[in-house]
This record gives sequence, structure tokens and C-alpha cells, in this order.
Amino acid sequence: MSEDQNYRGGQGQVVDAETFRDSVGTMDQSGKRRWVFPRKPSGRYTNYRTLVAWFLLALFFALPFIKIHGNPVLLINVVDRQFFIAGQPFYPQDFFILALGAITSIIFIILFTVVFGRIFCGWICPQTIFLEMIFRKIDYLIEGDRNKQMKLDRQEWNSEKIWKRSLKWSIFIIISLIITHWMFMYIVGYQEVFDMIKEGPFNNFTSFLVMIIFTAAFYFTFAWFREQVCTLVCPYGRLQGVLIDKQTINVYYDFKRGENRSKWRKGEDRRAEGKGDCIDCNQCVVVCPTGIDIRDGQQLECVNCTACIDACDEVMVKVGLPKGLIRYATEDEIEKEVPFKFTGRMKAYSAVLLLMIGFLGFLLSNRGTMEAKFIKPAGSSFFVRDGKINNTYNYTFLNKSNKDQLVTIKVIEPQHGEVSLSTTDKILLKRDQMIKGTVNVSFPEKEMKLSKQNVKIGVYNQNGELLDSFETYFEGPFKLQF
Ligand code: SF4
Ligand code: SF4
Repeated sequence: MSEDQNYRGGQGQVVDAETFRDSVGTMDQSGKRRWVFPRKPSGRYTNYRTLVAWFLLALFFALPFIKIHGNPVLLINVVDRQFFIAGQPFYPQDFFILALGAITSIIFIILFTVVFGRIFCGWICPQTIFLEMIFRKIDYLIEGDRNKQMKLDRQEWNSEKIWKRSLKWSIFIIISLIITHWMFMYIVGYQEVFDMIKEGPFNNFTSFLVMIIFTAAFYFTFAWFREQVCTLVCPYGRLQGVLIDKQTINVYYDFKRGENRSKWRKGEDRRAEGKGDCIDCNQCVVVCPTGIDIRDGQQLECVNCTACIDACDEVMVKVGLPKGLIRYATEDEIEKEVPFKFTGRMKAYSAVLLLMIGFLGFLLSNRGTMEAKFIKPAGSSFFVRDGKINNTYNYTFLNKSNKDQLVTIKVIEPQHGEVSLSTTDKILLKRDQMIKGTVNVSFPEKEMKLSKQNVKIGVYNQNGELLDSFETYFEGPFKLQF
């Protein structure tokens, strides 16, 4: 344990050191980066995390190729403003639904964090998954475990070091390129990415440049910046301080059981000698990918990766003590020995979350399959033809359904309104298509009671079902009103 940190003292009391740690764990006193060489983790939680990570990686690489009703499962094409989520098309007009979805997700994350702390960081976050499950594994494969990595780092740039480092960095560049290509598939679709690859970089120079920038950014993040993303940059990490409380589940060191820590001596009666279960072997520290000592209490850098739980459990088994000296628990559970409880704050967040999910579901189910607008062109006026007063409207139709639709336009209110299109009375709207055009609406002169009246125009499918309607106004000759 570093001598400048607060620590838990014997008999479960919090002992204040004379100074406290005022820098991140991966920096030395002069502010220089302290490179972390974590020991390769192994154990129960590492196995579970590996399974979750492989599942998520498979999902990441498979999703761009999966379609629902012919639509991509997920496509966020900000350039062409095309969005598909779970195979459902969303348009800029649906922005408020997406915004509400984003707010609901934020509340979900807040609730999740209040209850489960940074479990997301350790188990689901793409940064952790790519770093710990791909890039770090390549470190171990090429350079060996912690001690060998440290030795290689210290040694001269001899042939072994040059060979190992260039091999590792080349593989990192290839993986960064692959991640970039897949990320692009989520933006422009896989077919477009394949076409760009076939056509070559010089036919898609801007996209090529963007890809190079992203590849460089991924390489920088995973080859060099690494855990600094979680400890210095990630805004979610910064939120922990306000979201986590003493009832939040986190990775904790049971200081009541562990202190007074002391080295292991075979055959000793630790209880009788007033020693805690922590044998001060440092295995929980050397395995930590963010370079901290969990025995100093909950810290900003802890991403809840569980490596220290596995490391400590392994030690406990070896020395014949019960597992779980480091475990998932709440601070109250350890300090006051009170079991986890669903607090008022958690209940309040859950209520808001349920309300928002309900409202979002309502909006999604009422989103409709068509969006129609009828707007009078600026400066246009009415005209009279064959005893009828005519107004012209510019229409915009957006087919949100997963099929082509043949639509007709009718005046719903008031009665006696007629519609005439310039070409045909039916309009073919292909799936996900937006079309614009012009339509005339007319009323017999004798039916015009006001010089300006409201009109409701509907769009119907082949079966005569109303798909959408729009209210606007209709102008006629000036009428005196009494
Ligand atoms: S303290 Fe433990 S759980 Fe937290 S980051 Fe380090 S090894 Fe992972
Ligand atoms: S691994 Fe367990 S026993 Fe070893 S120092 Fe960490 S907490 Fe103590």
C-alpha cells in the first residue's frame, strides 16, 4: 500500500493517514505516467467476463449484417440522416422520440449505477472489452505475463525487443483498422464499406482520410492511452462520485475482516495474534489494470473489473481462509453489516424510468406508418375554374412502413372538397421513401361560407384506411361576415 493514502486500520476502523492521495494511481509524484503491467487475471469472474465479452464482440461484428424486414438492425447514418434501430426506420421528424429514448437511457444508466455501481465499466463497456479481451491478451501472448513485460520494457532496444514490439504494434494497427471498418458499417452500411474497399482509397478519398484518423485514434487509445480513458477522460467515470452511495453494490475489500493485515506465516493462529485475513501479498494490486490498491477503499479509478476478487480468492484458497475478502458488496454491508436494501432514491429513479418507458412505448406504437404534410406555397392565392375555387398545396409524404404503398388523397373536412393531382390520382410510395409534389384542392363556390376556412386532408392506402391527415387552411374570395 502506498504510504500517502488513507487506509483501513485494525479492528475495522478508518485510519486517516497524514496525507491523502491527490493524484491518479497511474501517475508518480512528478506527474509522469506510471505504466501499468497488470498480471494476467484468472478465476471465476474472469471466466464469466470472458464469456460476456465474446458474446458482445460477436454481436458487434455480426450486427451490421443482420436485417429485420430488409432493414439493418442498427444504422446511424448521420450524413444522410438515415436511422434504423431494431430494424425500425427513424427520420429527422422522429427526433423527439430519439431524444426521449436517449433521456430514458440516461435515467436507466443512472438507476443502474446507483444500484450496481460501475458494473457497466467492467463487464459491458467497449473500451474495457477491447482493451482487456483483445489488446491486453495480445500483450500476454507476445510479451508474456507481468514480469516478462516489465523486463522487456526495461531492457535495451535489442533484436528481441524490436521484434516483439513491432509485431505487437503491427497487430494493434490491423485490429484498429478492423474496428474502424466495422464502425463505418454502422454509419454507412456494410455494402457501402465493401464497395469503398473494392473501389480503392483514391476513389473515396474523404472517407479514406476519416478512416485513417479513426484508426489512428483507436490505435492511440488501445496501444498507449489505455486505462487513462477510464481514469481521466470518461464522463461516466466522473459521475460515479455523485451516483454511488453506501448502498451501492461495488467491488469492496472487507477491511473489517482483512485488517490488521500482515504477511502469512505457516501454522500461525492469526486470530489469536490479532491479525486480519489479508496476508498483504499484493496480488490484488498487481492484477489491477488501473494500478490501484482496492484495500484503500472505493476509488475513482476502479472499473469493477473483478480481477482483484479472483486474485484474492485464489490466495485465500491457498492459505485455507474463506473466499470473498474482496467481493461485490455495499459499503454498509461491510461497515455496518446491514444487507443490501432498495433505497428511496432507487425507488424514485425506478418510478421515473417506468413512466418514461411507458411514454416512449406509447409514442413508438403511435408513430404511424406514414407522415403527410400539405403546405401552401408562399405567396400563392386561390383561383376559380369551372365554378370551383381552387387552392394549391405542396405535399410531402414519408413512407415509414416496411412496404411500398399506393396512396390516394381525399378531403376529410369540410364536405364537398375535391382533390386533383397533376398526373394520376394514385401515388406510389416506395418503402422508406419521401416524395414531394403538388396537389389542387377545390370547393364549389356556393359551399364557401368564409373567405378562409380550415381544411383537413387525409392520405389513404389501397384498402381505404386512413394513414395520416393534416390540417391546414383554404382561401377563397372575400366574404362579408355578419
Ligand atoms: S480495484 Fe479491482 S475491480 Fe477495481 S479496477 Fe482494480 S482490479 Fe479491477
Ligand atoms: S490479494 Fe487479498 S490477501 Fe493479498 S493483499 Fe490483496 S486483499 Fe490482501
